Amino acid sequence: MADKRAQRLAELIKPLRVKPGSEVNLAKDYDPGYKADFLNKKKDGPDLLRTGIALLADYQARLAAQDTYGVLVCLQALDAGGKDGTIRHVMSGVNPQGVHVSNFKVPSAEELDHDFLWRYARRLPARGDIGIFNRSHYEEVLVVRVHPENLDRQKLPKEAKGKDVWARRYREINDWERYLSDNGFKVVKLLLNLSKEEQRTRFLKRIDLPEKNWKFSSADARERQWWDDYQRAFSEMLSATSTDWAPWYVIPADRKWFARICAAAVIAHTLMEIDPKYPVVSEQARQELLTVKAELEDEAPKDAPADPYAAAHAKTGKAGMEA
Ligand code: ATP
Ligand code: MG
Repeated sequence: MADKRAQRLAELIKPLRVKPGSEVNLAKDYDPGYKADFLNKKKDGPDLLRTGIALLADYQARLAAQDTYGVLVCLQALDAGGKDGTIRHVMSGVNPQGVHVSNFKVPSAEELDHDFLWRYARRLPARGDIGIFNRSHYEEVLVVRVHPENLDRQKLPKEAKGKDVWARRYREINDWERYLSDNGFKVVKLLLNLSKEEQRTRFLKRIDLPEKNWKFSSADARERQWWDDYQRAFSEMLSATSTDWAPWYVIPADRKWFARICAAAVIAHTLMEIDPKYPVVSEQARQELLTVKAELEDEAPKDAPADPYAAAHAKTGKAGMEA
């Protein structure tokens, strides 16, 4: 982490991290229009996003090669918060084989027939992978809380539906994430924090531009009526479930370019903390490689160098294997 770039990213995300145990009032504590003073959209924006994406690509390759840790990124936002665009931009540099995106919508009949974490557990990343939850198990304390009829549909036994259901869910979610973290799966959670006015603007854009019409549904506008209830549910969720092992980051989402930089920075920072390393082969395996190397060199056609790769890279000092 001595890398200057890493330090810059760490500095950027520090104010966004929700301190475990703190009492959060989202509207008061986090400004959706916040931008780090030292950043300028035109001058620094593209460069920093590129840095974040390059770091992600590099660390994701190591994560996959090491095959020991997995990363779960949970993305929450209200409609038009920018989840899809964030995933598209932030993950643009990584090997698609190592990233899996899962979208969670209204639960199916089969899903409602199970415990509330079941459908999320089925989508967890494998070791070496990054899993992205586009909406996540946090819907279970957000939309389900704001619209309690969702809870009624969950077929819970009476004793599990009492007043303490939300406190219990927070605890169960924290326990589940701790279990994942203890077993090598790092959980990182991003709330894209949008202002009501910016949501209105984005909805209108989706209505005004015909090619965006498909993205808008009148249900989204209806959901807006519950804005204050969602803000309260977000605040409680952040207060109760930002933990040392699975912290929340509140990403200011009114400026898309800044939100993307922050999201890339948080994920890159998480990977840096894991610091995955390429496996080093054993001495015996290395000797075997050298034997094969000698055999391949013996096969060289008359006018070809014994090892074309080493010959081409000799000047740069990156020549083939030394014994
Ligand atoms: P987009 O609109 O960008 O396609 P989206 O994530 O908003 O993406 P939609 O199909 O519009 O997808 O909405 C999914 C809906 O499902 C959201 O309103 C969300 O709150 C709801 N949902 C997700 N999980 C649950 C849950 N466990 N119980 C009830 N509703 C849920
Ligand atoms: Mg939607």
